[in-house]
Amino acid sequence: MQDRRVIQLLQELVRIPSINPALPGGTGEADIGRYVQTFCERLGLPFEVQEAVAGRDNVIVRLDQGDHLPTLLLEAHMDTVQTEGMTIPPYAGECRDGRLYGRGACDTKGSLAAMLAVVEKLHASGEPLPVNVHVAAVVDEEVNYRGVAELARRIEQGELAYAAAIVGEPTELQIVTAHKGVIRFYVEVEGVAGHSSEPEHAINAIEQMTAVIRYVNEEAARLRIELVHPMVGSPVCSVTQIHGGRSPNVIPDRCQITIDRRTVPGEEPMAVWTSIRDDLLELSARTPGLRLVVREPFILDYAMETASDHPLVDQLAARATLHTGGAQLLGAPYCSDASKLVRVGVPTVVFGPGSIAQAHTSDEWVELRQVEQAVDIMTDLIRSWQS
Ligand SMILES: [Zn+2]
Repeated sequence: MQDRRVIQLLQELVRIPSINPALPGGTGEADIGRYVQTFCERLGLPFEVQEAVAGRDNVIVRLDQGDHLPTLLLEAHMDTVQTEGMTIPPYAGECRDGRLYGRGACDTKGSLAAMLAVVEKLHASGEPLPVNVHVAAVVDEEVNYRGVAELARRIEQGELAYAAAIVGEPTELQIVTAHKGVIRFYVEVEGVAGHSSEPEHAINAIEQMTAVIRYVNEEAARLRIELVHPMVGSPVCSVTQIHGGRSPNVIPDRCQITIDRRTVPGEEPMAVWTSIRDDLLELSARTPGLRLVVREPFILDYAMETASDHPLVDQLAARATLHTGGAQLLGAPYCSDASKLVRVGVPTVVFGPGSIAQAHTSDEWVELRQVEQAVDIMTDLIRSWQS
């Protein structure tokens, strides 16, 4: 009975396009936001609308039991990636072979549907709960994390307080207690242009850049050995883009690379960047002709970790094991909204139905059984919550 309900909710959510407006064909999250508001109005549940970006609002659903109780936050993003290149109808919400297909089915409307179904079920039962429950449906996870940033800002200012949080992303109902962060930045090398028939009168920026690339490779090798986090492994460091050269017969005077450096919990992103910058400036000082600039990060996101023995982790693992036969604690290489909540002091894990392998794919789907199990697991967790 309840199982059917969560599938209906998921189908309705998938049928509402909500591509992040910064991506091709972006429609924004407003229609999903309105759907969540209507969901609350129908149940008579209070909700709060938070403007995260002009015209783009988070919606916070409140199942409040009393001010004296702690509050558990269930958070899921409403935006999806684009639908270009999809091999299935992105908004049909078709169910077949135990799966529901469509853009966002797995990332992360399966989680949002499960969270809404949990609140609806507990509200309908009218039973007293040991914890308040908020469901935050937020904007802009796929691009700039500005939805969760606004939520975190309000937590930091004391407008909202949470004892713990579950961020809904496809983890196949495993519990992600730690994930990596990232910084991305440019390094530019400046040479002296000249005719390629007389390279001795020029400084070749592309050839000079090879010293920087060699440094990145050595740094990556050093990190693999020297820094290993028990949940997420070692930091990684890669050159992901390169631009340089004006024409086939001109010695290039400029070359730019992008460095992508994944951080592990405990690393401060700006300290990591400063250390790489200092190394490169030193390399430049001892390498004849190497003139370079290390730009500040244009992307910065934090790694996160919640202690494996935190009550949230214990209780969620126990409930998940009950329903699925076994739940592992995992580290993840990707980023999520969770790090922004941990940053403002909310112990957070990432947990939800579906596999990250199906996120953003051309035939995105989620296994219905996992969506149903997510409802049972979170319902049980809330009913039996112990602070
Ligand atoms: Zn996601």
